[in-house]
Amino acid sequence: MSLKEKFIKKTPMFVQSSAISLFNTYQYKVRHGGEYKKIREYYAKVESFTASQLDKEIKKKQKSFFKYVKRKSAWYNKLNIKDLTKNIPLEKQDIINDFDKIKTIREKDGIVSLTGGTTGASMKVVYTKKDMQERFAILDHFRAQHGYHLGRKTAWFSGKNLISEHDIQNNICSHYDFINKIRFYSTFHINQDSFHVYWQSLVKFQPEFIVGFPSSVYELCEIADSLGLQLPTPVKVFFPTAETVLPKHREVIGRVLGCQLVDQYASSEGAPFILECTHGRLHIHPLTGIFEVVDENLQPAQSGELLVTSYTTHGTPLIRYRIGDNITLADSKETCSCNSIFPLVERIDGRTSDYILSPTHGKVNLGNISNSTKNIEGIIKFQVIQNQLKALQVLVVCSDKFNQQQKESFRAALVERFGDNMTIDIIVVDDIATEKSGKFRIVKNLLDS
Ligand SMILES: [Zn+2]
Repeated sequence: MSLKEKFIKKTPMFVQSSAISLFNTYQYKVRHGGEYKKIREYYAKVESFTASQLDKEIKKKQKSFFKYVKRKSAWYNKLNIKDLTKNIPLEKQDIINDFDKIKTIREKDGIVSLTGGTTGASMKVVYTKKDMQERFAILDHFRAQHGYHLGRKTAWFSGKNLISEHDIQNNICSHYDFINKIRFYSTFHINQDSFHVYWQSLVKFQPEFIVGFPSSVYELCEIADSLGLQLPTPVKVFFPTAETVLPKHREVIGRVLGCQLVDQYASSEGAPFILECTHGRLHIHPLTGIFEVVDENLQPAQSGELLVTSYTTHGTPLIRYRIGDNITLADSKETCSCNSIFPLVERIDGRTSDYILSPTHGKVNLGNISNSTKNIEGIIKFQVIQNQLKALQVLVVCSDKFNQQQKESFRAALVERFGDNMTIDIIVVDDIATEKSGKFRIVKNLLDS
């Protein structure tokens, strides 16, 4: 437990809320100080650039970033600037093992960010303050286009475990930053028993915006939906973070909270940005970095794994970084009705490791698996675990609508996806734990680890 968590567990709620308000205000000052204002104006301006202006600006940003990295990072001193594809991809393991060689500044001179790795190894990167300010300028500009700014009532669902079981029993599921009007909800305690604590809190708080893990907000909404509930005061926008958004998320969250879901792609280790426009399409922001989509042989592809190069990672440079996510690019001839010339992405397909390996059907991806509950009633959440090549455990948290007939339909949908050569064991459970990061995973492929 960190000092901060210890403090939180032992201190009265009012003092905790004051501390959280002050901490957030301090963090806000760091993130929004320095050149933040100038950078934010820059990001507003570049949106109306012509193709040739944009091209020139991209080249300028690339050149200055690559020159800096080559000079300052021992890891990249042989970087091939002329032909990026000649450089071998940077792996997560490299950042964990060779952090000191990759980074260009001392930790105490920058801002350290920790990422929970999938295999349990935690990864650390350090940002320069200026890059952090740039990242927040980009995000704030994006959110402002959808009506948000700091000080609007916001419910936050992220992975900080600041609530105890005891708090839940006392009807407390969140902490309130009363200076910035942000209510931080625990994502670790959402289940059917605690649902009413969360629901009553949301009804009373009347947030205008929600930010956080889609799986957490979805779970709350799925339970509400099964009870026929809708939020009396609709939320304006839900900004999901950190996880892949599934079609089902949009549908159920929209229905229960009355809001629009506006997606984005970024990551705590500093990936460049993909942002949803006001016309509902995803655009790559070409001034934040390079997105290479490659196949299994690292050859360019329309749909496949991402290698990212990010211009806001001067502290811990990411060049051709294998981030572990898959996307599908839109046809390059396609244009968006929002008139932006930023490249279009068809969809974000989720993590590369989110698949089940079937002996007959090959890799079955997350999108396909999450679709298996379509038209099946009573499933609140489920998780597919693969320990062996020919056997799956499927954990299901359900309401009483999930009867024998629904269970058989669900099994049939799973067999359709994985083939009939696999043993599928459907087990009804009370709850399925989230990961240490507070995120929920539908697919757990344990063959790899
Ligand atoms: Zn657009």
